[in-house]
Order: sequence, then C-alpha cells, then structure tokens
Amino acid sequence: MKFRNFKLVGYVVYGRGSFNQLDEIIAPHRKECKPMVFLVDHFFEGKPLVNRIPFRGNDKVIFVDVTYEPKTTYVDTLAQQLKEEFGTLSGVIGIGGGSAMDLAKAVSLMMNNTGSSADYQGWDLVKQPGVYKVGIPTLSGTGAEVSRTTVLTGPTKKLGMNSDFTPFDQIVLDPELTANAPANQRFYTGMDCYIHCIESLEGTFLNEFSKSYGEKALELCRDVFVKTDGWNEGCDDKLMMASYAGGMSIAYSQVGVAHAVSYGLSYLLGTKHGIGNCIVMNHLEEYYPAGVKEFKYMVEKNKIDIPTGICKGMSEEDFDKMIGVSMGMKPLWENALGKNWETIMTREKLRELYGRL
Ligand code: NAD
Ligand code: ZN
Repeated sequence: MKFRNFKLVGYVVYGRGSFNQLDEIIAPHRKECKPMVFLVDHFFEGKPLVNRIPFRGNDKVIFVDVTYEPKTTYVDTLAQQLKEEFGTLSGVIGIGGGSAMDLAKAVSLMMNNTGSSADYQGWDLVKQPGVYKVGIPTLSGTGAEVSRTTVLTGPTKKLGMNSDFTPFDQIVLDPELTANAPANQRFYTGMDCYIHCIESLEGTFLNEFSKSYGEKALELCRDVFVKTDGWNEGCDDKLMMASYAGGMSIAYSQVGVAHAVSYGLSYLLGTKHGIGNCIVMNHLEEYYPAGVKEFKYMVEKNKIDIPTGICKGMSEEDFDKMIGVSMGMKPLWENALGKNWETIMTREKLRELYGRL
C-alpha cells in the first residue's frame, strides 16, 4: 500500500472582508519591475470589485473569458502574451469561479515550463514550479481553491495538470465575494461540492481523513440547501467552507460515478462541470440512493431547473466517444464500484444511462 503524500495550499486567509488584506499579503512576493497579473472572471468587468484590486507599478488585469471551460490553447496564449510583454512575473492572481482559478494555476505553471500546457495534462508531468499564485473564489463548490489540479480541455483530452506544483501558494476565502451570484449558478456549483461529498463518502477509497472533511462539508451543504429557507450571508460563509472541506475530502479519496459520466458530456457537448454533474446525479439512484433522493429534494426546494433530454439526437458514434471518455476515468470508477468495476459498469450500461440524460 502506497499512501498519497499530497501537497497543500501554502497560506489561507478566511473571513468577510479578507479581500481587503490582499495588498499586504502579496507585498512580500513582489519583485522589482515584475508585475502581479490579475486574471479576473469577465463577469466582474466594470463591477466595483475591480476598484478594490491593489494595483501597483506595472500590474495588469486581464478579464478572462470563462464562457467555455478553460482550454489548453487559451492558457498557452495567455502565458505567451505575458512572457512577451514582461519576461516573467511576480505572480498570478486568479479571481473568479473554478474556471478563472484553474486558468490562474495553469498560467502560473506555464510561465516557467516550456511547450504547451497540453504536454502536462496528466499526473506529475509538470517539471518546474510556476510563479507565485493566489486563488480567490467568487463562487463556492468546486474545491479548485485547494486541489492539486487544474482541469483543461486539450486537443485530445480533458484532463488536469495534476502535480505538486499546481496548488496555490495562497488562497483568500472571502464569502462577501460570492454574494449575489445567480441562484441557479450558485446551486450548480454548490452541488459540485455536495456531489464530491457523496462520491467520496460512498466510495471504496474512503479513509478517516477524507471522511472527516467529507462529513463536515456535507453538513454545511445541508445547512445551506436543505435547512435554510431563502439565502442569507451565513449561507455564503458556510458554502465557502463546504467547498474547501469537500476539496480536502477528495484530495485523499476520489470522485465517482457522477463525475465520470459528466466528463463525457463535457468533452462531447461542452456541458459545464456543475450543471453536468447535476444532470447526471438526477439519474443515479442505483449508485447513490440516499444522495440522489436528497439531491432531488434540494432541486425542488431551491426551485432549480435541471435540463433533461440533452443527449437526444446524438449519433451512435458520439455516444461511443462519450462512453470512451467516461470509461477512461478509471480511478473514479474504481473508487465508486470497486476493483471489479468493469464487470459492473459495461459499455451497454453506460450507453443506456447516457440515453436517459
Ligand atoms: P465557472 O468558474 O465556470 O463560472 C460559472 C459562471 O459564473 C461564469 O459565467 C462566471 O462568469 C460566473 N461567476 C463567477 N463568479 C460569479 C459571481 N460572484 N457572481 C455572478 N457570476 C459569477 O464555475 P464554477 O462552477 O465555479 O467552476 C467550474 C470550473 O471549475 C470548470 O472549468 C471545472 O472543470 C473546474 N473545476 C476544477 C476543479 C479543480 O480541482 N481544479 C474541480 C472542480 C471543477
Ligand atoms: Zn467536481
């Protein structure tokens, strides 16, 4: 048995208004004439948050387009542009949801690694540490703020740059930044966390470390989506910690069926991570009966629309590709169904499941 020895985030600050400490936090990491580059979710362009960014010297803000989930080509373009303009940087600061944070991690790594980010999609392929990087979530749920991966869609696969160099050096968890996120988006991303917990807690890789974080994260998700009527500040506080703890839980276990199936959707149809997981979870009674029942209750209580019929009209060839992508997520299936997962989840069974989505 080889135990996972994983790298954690360097520094964590948590609290309402902690964003105001950013200037002081990053100051010791500034190098002469080398800017801090803020990769900010395009949603915030023209919004008051931008005026609170602590610009100094030749710092730069780039509003990143997160209409589509991050692609290796986008990461490469950003890194190339920054190398040409500045040589190197003092650091990269990602402000936004999982997409903007993943872009920041990947761009930081590509400032110090050669070639294309697509060369590093996989496990432990990154050769050099990136430049100093900071993650500041404005949506809660993905756990991207704590994970050792950055999920990218490349020319041949959708896979993260998983490495010990990937976690942020610093994260700023300020629940005020998630206020006013649209209810549907907040739910989809929040459910990413809920689903991380169910998949981790119901998985075969579970140990006491993952369980401790997973149970706490699940309790916080329930407080927010089951026990609270309406939305209040406390919900933002709780969901931000749920995301963190959910991410810590899967760090030592793995996700499961919902993620394995939703990866196929996202690769073929471009379905986004949070909503894709919800679309799949809606049909997983066989694997997570209690979790799916509660999920459906939360959907109803929070008056959320989960799309259906998204695979209608797809060709058999496309179904085949989707099944291939999903079946390729071996560790996820093994966590969910055990070592003999291939005898349980056959291509036919997966075809039938995709047909229902
Ligand atoms: P997102 O980052 O894709 O953003 C979704 C939408 O919400 C965007 O339109 C964005 O502009 C908007 N938005 C962000 N913050 C907002 C706010 N405060 N108010 C209003 N709108 C806001 O969504 P997400 O669910 O946070 O992230 C999904 C991404 O994270 C995917 O690319 C997925 O692959 C990745 N992910 C990464 C990890 C990891 O460990 N690295 C884990 C899970 C998911
Ligand atoms: Zn997820």
